[in-house]
Amino acid sequence: THNNLFSALRAAFPADLTAVAVETDEGLRYSWHDLDRATAMMANLLQSLDLPEGSRVAVQVEKSVEAMMLYLATLRAGYVFLPLNTAYQSAEIEYFIGNAEPAVVVCSPANFGWVSKIAFKAGTQHVFTLGDDRTGSLLERSAHHSDQHTPLPRQADDLAAILYTSGTTGRSKGAMLTHGNMLSNALTLKDYWGWTSTGGADGRGDVLIHALPIFHVHGLFVAIHGALINGSKMIWMAKFDPKRAIAHMAKATVFMGVPTLYVRMLTEPSLNKEAVKHMRLFIAGSAPLLIETFTEWQERTGHTILERYGMSETAMLTSNPYAADARYAGQSERRGGTVGFPLPGVSLRVRGDDGHDLPVGEIGGIQVKGPNVFKGYWRMPEKTAEEFTADGFFKTGDVGQVDERGYVTIVGRSKDLIISGGYNVYPAEIEGYINEMPGVAESAVIGVPHSDFGEVGVAVVIAKPGANLKPEAIVADLKAKLANFKIPKRCFVLAELPRNTMGKVQKNLLRDQYKGLFV
Ligand code: ATP
Ligand code: MG
Repeated sequence: THNNLFSALRAAFPADLTAVAVETDEGLRYSWHDLDRATAMMANLLQSLDLPEGSRVAVQVEKSVEAMMLYLATLRAGYVFLPLNTAYQSAEIEYFIGNAEPAVVVCSPANFGWVSKIAFKAGTQHVFTLGDDRTGSLLERSAHHSDQHTPLPRQADDLAAILYTSGTTGRSKGAMLTHGNMLSNALTLKDYWGWTSTGGADGRGDVLIHALPIFHVHGLFVAIHGALINGSKMIWMAKFDPKRAIAHMAKATVFMGVPTLYVRMLTEPSLNKEAVKHMRLFIAGSAPLLIETFTEWQERTGHTILERYGMSETAMLTSNPYAADARYAGQSERRGGTVGFPLPGVSLRVRGDDGHDLPVGEIGGIQVKGPNVFKGYWRMPEKTAEEFTADGFFKTGDVGQVDERGYVTIVGRSKDLIISGGYNVYPAEIEGYINEMPGVAESAVIGVPHSDFGEVGVAVVIAKPGANLKPEAIVADLKAKLANFKIPKRCFVLAELPRNTMGKVQKNLLRDQYKGLFV
């Protein structure tokens, strides 16, 4: 059977191909016909290179509509798309290209010199350039190819992309995702989030504000697949800007963002009920959304942010309900601090260290199974084997619980768990208490080695502008509320938390910084 993801997305294009599919921040408009033709030309170029089956197309370019087209063209031609974070410099690119051995590399024109050197050394045959202003050899060469192209037949189990994880807990791993993984997830979310093709703000159904980078699961799969599989228009922001994002809301219905984007929009006076009156849905994920952000957003806009949970290896796993969920007694509440219910088709369980299922409300390792779960880590068979259970569940590395209503809460990552004097300390619990204290903007609790206790907690706290926080007062306040083994042994007030480009707090850097405190 024909299971190319591109074909499924193409089949969802609206009947009127002259309608606008993508409108950029700078006012450029691309019709559905443009998407179809340009991806055909790029796919023909790729195919003319006579690449071996399963070839990787590695791409490190600035966000642009053409970069999205290159993704679609790679699917269309049956090759494997491999996006790379634009922040990566030469040492990182050398690792990724050496590890992935792509047949084709596409980079920014400004980086051609050093990237091509790395690529040719790794055996790559073809290096193209693609600028964020429709320049570069990829488009020049594509222009000589036909705008007609029949998508290559693919099986659901064939590789479509390798997505390197964000590297929050250590070195990035390449997650191998198939056409079937992504199509199943796209169809599930289309339904679960109530995407509509008619009756939207502009009379044509949903319109998505695309404000995320496209080298990551959130912007590349959740956002782009979400819009395309519904035949929905995208408002395309090459760079996120809170003022402009808010201004676009008058013509849009869906917004997806990492928590920091919401925090930044909340600092804009233009964010109010009037500004969001055309909007249908605000979705957050990729990192925990602070309760404070959730509540403040509700007060300012009247909208309840829908938080969901997923990862590079699995795409989306859980979501707060968009509407009443019949599987969970018709519950429809979007609960801040939780990531909602397992998505239809996803099995999720919480297991203890002994490998047994834990009762409702108990905290343990989250394991998942479903058509969206990846094939394994690229060239890491041992790691892959380690992370799957005998009955085929993937160990997410996240720690959490499921409550009696079915809502899943993530309390942290197993690697961040602190074991102090034999007791488990969950950083998210302590952080929750610290974040509620007056003057605190946010916090991170980490475990560091201790000669008596094995490990102890250290709290790193960020003050709100103008607040004068006293570390001793924070510790004293915690002592009044929590068991002694949970109390951080030291507290530091810093200007900001170290974050990677996806806005994730890099606790490994903090652990490194404070590892010598008690040994
Ligand atoms: P690495 O695996 O390389 O350490 P990473 O896990 O950060 O990096 P991603 O695949 O980009 O790489 O991120 C997935 C992780 O993000 C999840 O495992 C989870 O820890 C976190 N995450 C995603 N959504 C949420 C959410 N809504 N709340 C809390 N954490 C989330
Ligand atoms: Mg991970």
